[in-house]
Amino acid sequence: MPRRVDEADRPPGDGTAPQGCDADLVGTVPRMKRTSTSLADGREIIYYDLDSTHRDRQVKDRRDLGATTTASEVRYDALLDEWVAIASHRQDRTYLPPADECPLCPSRGGRSTEVPDDDYDVVVFENRFPSFAAGDPAPVVPDGMSARGPGFGRCEVVCFTSDHEAPVATLPLEHVRLLVDAWADRTEVLGALPHVEQVFCFENRGEEIGVTLGHPHGQIYAYPFVTPISRRMLGSARRHRERTWRNLFADVLAAEVADGSRVVHQTEHWVAFVPAAARWPVEVHLYPRRRVPDLPALTDAERDDLAGAYPSLLRTLDGLYDAPMPYIAAWHQAPTRVDRDLAHLHLELFSVKRAAHKLKYLAGSESGMGVWINDVTPEHIADRLRAAAGGGGTA
Ligand SMILES: [Zn+2]
Repeated sequence: MPRRVDEADRPPGDGTAPQGCDADLVGTVPRMKRTSTSLADGREIIYYDLDSTHRDRQVKDRRDLGATTTASEVRYDALLDEWVAIASHRQDRTYLPPADECPLCPSRGGRSTEVPDDDYDVVVFENRFPSFAAGDPAPVVPDGMSARGPGFGRCEVVCFTSDHEAPVATLPLEHVRLLVDAWADRTEVLGALPHVEQVFCFENRGEEIGVTLGHPHGQIYAYPFVTPISRRMLGSARRHRERTWRNLFADVLAAEVADGSRVVHQTEHWVAFVPAAARWPVEVHLYPRRRVPDLPALTDAERDDLAGAYPSLLRTLDGLYDAPMPYIAAWHQAPTRVDRDLAHLHLELFSVKRAAHKLKYLAGSESGMGVWINDVTPEHIADRLRAAAGGGGTA
């Protein structure tokens, strides 16, 4: 089934990519070039270049890569009414290699990595150890009170920069804008695949979060179902609309802006605040002021503004303990086919770090019962983040 496009939500000339073409200039402003090619084992790799980069990106992957087994499947948990991905092949994946063996750096000096070219701006490729993989989206079959099916979908790695030592917080605005365009383009392309119900762009940063590679990178999951968290949020939004005819996310955003006590950062198009019921010791949500379903629906102006606001927010987090903050950055986008009129694009950014040398662990109440206990008030977190940002609460 083709993906439903919300024309009302999508401005004309919004900088998104035409699909299925290689080495094309993308959007109304020719600021990004996309080139798709293949790695030695057949996985797709896509270079996103600044328009000024002038590279043809046809360097061949000369590695002798064996095929991987991607025996992922999904199983249905009848008690919680949600799917679990079982991907046992991931146990073999690369774990914290030294920087000179980094598989995400470009190929240089005779060493071949996952990126065949010797430099890149932003590059995306299919994960060699995916939790969800391409294949025949065969039907789900019953298994007692459960059900199981193939873990159909796609998992991609996004390398934010070729510089191993340059986290997103340090990248220039033009480069972060390229990353935003790459996220938006992948969302469009993956969302158009059959059986993909939701596209999730995210970054896990820091060993404390369980990151297995130090290179600045994120991931994109194209799920074969709407995720449990999104389903719950959209259910709340549906009930709110039935009661009030209003959008829940927009009302939450408006209430936070009106109150102001938890607002951390505001720009022309974006607002960052600590949610009233924050679960994590550091947690910030970043919303566009205009309700859009997903990243592809952002205008050029909103993308440019995000390219400044996002690294600024990350620097604020780093400033909290004067050290790189381990974090998870999770883009909440509308499902590809359903409830797009209810959703509101936003980023949820949070950390397990509760003090300079202490981490929060998800223990009995959180892991066993789903009841979160936060040792610090959200208002205090907001105060401290504003102080780390230089005070004021707006920038
Ligand atoms: Zn690297």
